[in-house]
Amino acid sequence: MKLDYDYIICGGGISGLLLASKLSNDSHYKNKSILILDPDFPKKYNDRTLCFWDKKNSAWDSLLTSSWENVVFKNGIDEKSLDLNPLNYKMLSSISFYNYVNSIIKKNTNIHISNSKVSSFKDYNSYCLVETNERSFKSSKVFNSILDWNIIKKDTKYPLLIQHFEGWVIKTKHDFFDSKKATFMDFSIPQDSTTKFMYILPFSKNEALVEFTLFSQQVLNKEDYHLALSNYLGSSEITDYEIISKETGQIPMTCYPFFESNTKNILNIGSAGGWSKPSTGYTFKNIDRNTTKIVEFLKSENNFKKFLRKNRFWFYDLIFLDVLYYENHLGKQLFTDMFKKNDPKTIFKFLDNKSSFMEELKIMLSFPKIIFLSAVLKRIYKGL
Ligand SMILES: Cc1cc2nc3c(=O)[nH]c(=O)nc-3n(C[C@H](O)[C@H](O)[C@H](O)COP(=O)(O)OP(=O)(O)OC[C@H]3O[C@@H](n4cnc5c(N)ncnc54)[C@H](O)[C@@H]3O)c2cc1C
Repeated sequence: MKLDYDYIICGGGISGLLLASKLSNDSHYKNKSILILDPDFPKKYNDRTLCFWDKKNSAWDSLLTSSWENVVFKNGIDEKSLDLNPLNYKMLSSISFYNYVNSIIKKNTNIHISNSKVSSFKDYNSYCLVETNERSFKSSKVFNSILDWNIIKKDTKYPLLIQHFEGWVIKTKHDFFDSKKATFMDFSIPQDSTTKFMYILPFSKNEALVEFTLFSQQVLNKEDYHLALSNYLGSSEITDYEIISKETGQIPMTCYPFFESNTKNILNIGSAGGWSKPSTGYTFKNIDRNTTKIVEFLKSENNFKKFLRKNRFWFYDLIFLDVLYYENHLGKQLFTDMFKKNDPKTIFKFLDNKSSFMEELKIMLSFPKIIFLSAVLKRIYKGL
């Protein structure tokens, strides 16, 4: 069977491009031909702000826009400064990411790009077939980063919340922000039946990204995000400001087992592979880790069904989402309990799936016990 390429990457966004750049940096793959399919390539503007926590000196540092040693949690009554040392909270603009990985990819003549739109892909065991709006391609492996929201919306076994947000980068006339402190979550805004908070990343005393974020079942109308942001700025006495740029987004918060649709030759990656942390939506670090794993995995394995499985963190996320899905008004209380009663370093370790069982137990015991216990029992009854 004559193949068109060894590997096809469907979607050249964050995970597709990072995977391609890591494969192209590894001499093991120097003879592999790779095709990236994405109608929106190359991305020429900053379409997302990628934040994550990591050790002070680590990968991506040279590309960061900002980083913070402290982040703040607020609930309208208390304000807790969370000392992250030895970690920093880091911000990477997607345009810096795209330019950097594209410069690596460009140097590798084995990587080809097509601006075709993928319509389907199938594993025929000895080869994969990818259909696009222009033509079809055969390859030995396919990496899919195109998220199909319909699949997770249709699923009835696992709760789906959407992390949806609109953020404004604003420049104020007068100094207002403390550029040393990012606000991780500010729940002081009026709460109703949904989990909502503000997220603030100050770059200087008069410039910041202010983002209105919700974890809920339905998204809002455009005007509702605008109103919440302008009310928040007004109530913080920020009235004289210019909006420099805006970002909007939706991230899936679900324990849907995306990996079950991996086949021997097709691997779902990025948010489409379930790499968005279900309880927080953070994805970038998982993409960074998992793309490195793929590069190593393929050197000794041929079957993608063996790549990544459920672990205990998946179960914790599932219980947390079960609670938040059915009792969405509880978000402020749950995050307050977690941040008030636990050491921030342990929390960030936990959110990174790197904590010990004893640390996890302590964090879990800080949540309302009866609500969580009943969620565990209901989940066991419903099935994992
Ligand atoms: C605004 C925003 C801010 C975010 N901020 C953070 C953050 O701070 N920290 C964090 O950890 N995560 C964040 N995320 C979540 C996550 O990191 C990003 O969504 C990230 O882009 C996920 O990478 P991906 O490769 O899965 O998807 P994408 O980067 O979205 O890539 C998917 C690609 O598929 C292409 N595509 C779609 N349909 C087709 C088709 N039919 N054929 C071919 N190509 C197609 C798209 O053009 C796109 O390039 C954010 C997300 C958004 C939207």
